[in-house]
Amino acid sequence: MNDKLAALQQIITDIKTHQCSLRAGCLQAVPGEGNPESPVVFIGEGPGRVEDEQGRPFVGPAGQLLAKLLGSIGLKREDVYITNVVKCRPPENRDPSPTEVAEHHDFLQRELELIKPKLVVLLGRHALHWFLPDEQISKVRGKAKRQGQYIYFPIYHPAAALHNPNLSNTLKEDFLKIPALLKKIDELPPVDDASSLKPPRTALPHQQLAIF
Ligand code: URA
Repeated sequence: MNDKLAALQQIITDIKTHQCSLRAGCLQAVPGEGNPESPVVFIGEGPGRVEDEQGRPFVGPAGQLLAKLLGSIGLKREDVYITNVVKCRPPENRDPSPTEVAEHHDFLQRELELIKPKLVVLLGRHALHWFLPDEQISKVRGKAKRQGQYIYFPIYHPAAALHNPNLSNTLKEDFLKIPALLKKIDELPPVDDASSLKPPRTALPHQQLAIF
């Protein structure tokens, strides 16, 4: 096993064995999964019922839509890395509280530091707010933004699009932008900003940093 896979395995073990305030109310913790060499990471909110049962992210109805969307850009889910802001299912699928998000903070940070993706796709408002707390998903979706060493691409959450044809069309259109974005990112000058490993807490307005 190479060093990166071993480090990822350690993160997965730490996620599976951690204790947090959500653990008592769920069946199991759900680590991220996929290709740690992927240039793109997809971040959702947290496990739902099916994910809680299976111990894998995005395997329920929202995950099936995510798989279809990945297919629309020629990718399979195992080509990319998929994870969540919180790794344990909140009771009744309620929103995770700020305390619960904070309890899981280090897991996502470690995943990103290890994978160093070129593009971080933020699925919905919870993932958006982890990085960019002052932004609104409806305003910033579909626009990539470079902040620190990461380039973020916020889009609607697949679950939100499941029962809303307008959101579904927007999500499909935004998803189709991903291959061109990745290509464009390869042409950008490198960024040297060690401080950016932490999620920014004082975000600048989105349009100020929008690069595409
Ligand atoms: N919704 C999420 O945000 N994450 C999952 O893993 C499943 C549904």
